[in-house]
Order: sequence, then C-alpha cells, then structure tokens
Amino acid sequence: MDMGIAGRRALVCAGSKGLGRGCAEALAREGVIVTITARGKEALEKTADEIRAAGGKVTAVAGDITTPEGRSAALAACKDPDILINNAGGPPPGDFRDWTPDDWMKALNANMITAIELIRATLDPMIARKWGRIVNITSGSVKSPIAILGLSNGARTGLTGFCAGIARQVVKDGVTINGLLPGPFDTDRLRSSMEFEARKAGRPVADIAKERAQNNPAKRFGTSEEFGAACAFLCSAHAGYITGQNLLMDGGAFNSSI
Ligand code: NAP
Repeated sequence: MDMGIAGRRALVCAGSKGLGRGCAEALAREGVIVTITARGKEALEKTADEIRAAGGKVTAVAGDITTPEGRSAALAACKDPDILINNAGGPPPGDFRDWTPDDWMKALNANMITAIELIRATLDPMIARKWGRIVNITSGSVKSPIAILGLSNGARTGLTGFCAGIARQVVKDGVTINGLLPGPFDTDRLRSSMEFEARKAGRPVADIAKERAQNNPAKRFGTSEEFGAACAFLCSAHAGYITGQNLLMDGGAFNSSI
C-alpha cells in the first residue's frame, strides 16, 4: 500500500535506536524526508548512514530533546514538520516512596512537557497547511499501569489526556494526534528494565526474558519494524479520520473485549 506521504517532512525524536528508529526507517521507506535526534552522536550518525544506505533521506541532529536547546536544534533542522513523532527515554523504575518532587519534574518534563512543547511549536503551521500527523510514543502503561514504572504511568497519562482534548480541535484542519502504546518490544529499554527486575529478584536476566515472552499471548516480544510500520500507517494519507486514539501494540497482553 502506498502511504501517500512521499516528500513530507518528519521530525522523529529519540530516533537513533529502538522504537524511534523503527519509525524513522518506516517513514524514510515511504519517501518521507526524516530528521532524527538523539543525545549520542555516534549511534545517531550510524543510524542515519544506514537509513541513507537503504535509500532514505535523513538529517541527524544530536541533542537532548528534553531541553529547550535540544528542541530548538531539532526544529532548526526540521522547520515546520508535516509529521512529528514525539519520543524520549522513559523514566527509571522504582518505588514511589523514594521519588522526590525533582524526580517527578524530570519524568514530567521528559514524557509530557517535551512532547507538548514540540506540539506547541509545530501545530499551528500544520493547521495553516491543512495537513499534519502527530504520533506520541507513550506506553502500554497508559492503559494498564506497571507497578514499578509509576513515573511513566503518571507522566504519560498526563500527555495522553492533554492530547485527547486538542486532537478533537484540530482534526477539522487535517491534523491528527494519536498515541502508539508499546507493550514489550525487543529494545535496549526493555533489556534494561528486565535487568532491573532480575537484580531485584536475584535471578538470571535470560530467565526473566524467557518468562516474559512466554507470558505474552504472542509468545515473543514485538519488533521495532512492526512498531514503525504501525506508525507509518498512522502518519499516512489514509489515516486522516483516525485521531485521539491510543493504539496498544502488546501482542494481546492487555486482556479485554474491546
Ligand atoms: P531505546 O531502545 O533505549 O531507545 C531510546 C532512544 O531514545 C535512543 O535513540 C536514545 O538515544 C534516545 N533518547 C533517549 N533519551 C533522549 C533524549 N533525552 N533526547 C534525545 N534522544 C533521547 O528505547 P525504546 O524501547 O525505543 O523506548 C522508546 C520509548 O518507549 C521510551 O520512552 C520507553 O520508555 C517507551 N517504551 C518502550 C517499551 C519497550 O518495550 N521497548 C515499552 C513501553 C514503553 P540517546 O540515548 O543517545 O539519546
């Protein structure tokens, strides 16, 4: 299926690895001109080279997307994107008794306010052009909270609530805003959270990984390629009537009829 977005410009935040990278690759494959960001320059340049080698058009901008400077650099390289993929590293796991207001402010900044700031900077030009796609990479924890990820549960639900409101205001102008909610995807992030779990339980990480995969109805973790393909569809010309939605990609782990 032709996604109908060749020549559009996308800013993919936190796109050197994992889910962000999957989105950048899928969009580049559709002929979208992509800008990717990440803090680590080496991995970022490597990803950009690999996207180029596969025929994609990509610019790499090193910087921390959770800072005003990082966002300015990203937006300077990709002024007025047609497509915005909001993403950043997730907050650390832990026990809420240990979290200070500063820990909460960091999580809210990274996983809520950063996305809102980027939406604030890009939404009106999208409205003026009568076309735009915004996808927030959040987490399955928005729908089904994960006990050790309280900072993530809180911050991402805040972003989701905010976007539910504005999505309905801008769809008439051709702009959609949706959430993509990853369950367990085979990335560095998942591996580090399983390492945390293994240390806590005093068990080998390989056992935790096997158990977690087996507990999923799909009997495996998701891949960044699958995630990117869903993102490309939400950003496609065909998805203009899908807005304010939160697509859970978890192999069916969340058990519900609808
Ligand atoms: P990942 O494989 O660890 O990749 C994270 C990417 O984000 C890297 O490219 C990293 O590069 C970049 N990044 C992190 N912090 C950044 C910052 N402040 N500014 C710019 N770039 C930054 O993680 P992932 O699995 O793709 O996860 C992406 C998001 O989905 C996270 O918020 C994660 O919590 C959430 N999530 C993931 C899963 C899963 O199973 N994988 C499940 C639920 C939710 P640098 O480190 O070089 O900056």
